[in-house]
Amino acid sequence: MLLEGDLIYLLDSKGYRHWLTLGNGMVRVQGLGVVDSSKIIGQEDGYALSIAGKTFTALKPMIGDLMQSLERGPQIITPKDAATIAFRLGLRAGETVVEAGVGSGALTMALINSVMPTGRVISMEFREEFARGAEKNIKRAGLHEFWEVKIGDIRKDNPGVMADAVSLDMPDPQLALDNIEAFLRPGGRISAYVPNTNQLADVVHGLEDRNYIEIDALENIQRRMEVHPGGVRPSFENLGHTGYLIFARKPSR
Ligand code: SAM
Repeated sequence: MLLEGDLIYLLDSKGYRHWLTLGNGMVRVQGLGVVDSSKIIGQEDGYALSIAGKTFTALKPMIGDLMQSLERGPQIITPKDAATIAFRLGLRAGETVVEAGVGSGALTMALINSVMPTGRVISMEFREEFARGAEKNIKRAGLHEFWEVKIGDIRKDNPGVMADAVSLDMPDPQLALDNIEAFLRPGGRISAYVPNTNQLADVVHGLEDRNYIEIDALENIQRRMEVHPGGVRPSFENLGHTGYLIFARKPSR
């Protein structure tokens, strides 16, 4: 059911999404002008409606849609990499995750989605303006109840919690490994996301030096397929390289 206060999008026949928060009465929607919210509130997710003679479908966003629609500051992670991180960290409801840095908050949303409603994500970010931008994005997605941001440097500051998992998306994650010892629980999981192979090697060596176990490094490649009347082939618009992912577990010391 679509309710007042829900962030939704109206999908048009060309596949474009027009975002709006369902409000009391008329709501301004970029690209569409003014839309009467009362026609949508109370309808089922997937409701089809007509606006100025054109058909739209009203849909509640999934977490990947929210990640891709946020206001961007620093480069955001792709849904394919965020999904792999959340899954390979083995996140479940009730767990505590520490991440750095928050950037635009895209990966944060995928992490929150995996531990809510009883768990939480603590983001450590050393640039105040990025923390505030991410806060705006996370509030817009309605996920702020399960999240806290701390201004600090994960290479030296302590988030003040014991984490089940730590997720790093920053240029020099290997330099945070000593500090993380104090707040990642035994058996806890760690991930790092880096764009270059030299960074991947630095992280793997750093984990090996600290006797982490089940170290696994990978590149996550996905190809979107196009189905045409004449045949089926990978899209020409596929992303090439995004980043490398490294996972490991901390043994009891
Ligand atoms: N995961 C984010 C997303 O999907 O939107 C993008 C993260 S962005 C690539 C890297 C972020 O890490 C930046 O916001 C940067 O300021 C922050 N950062 C870099 N080194 C850091 C450190 N040592 N401690 C805390 N934040 C750090």
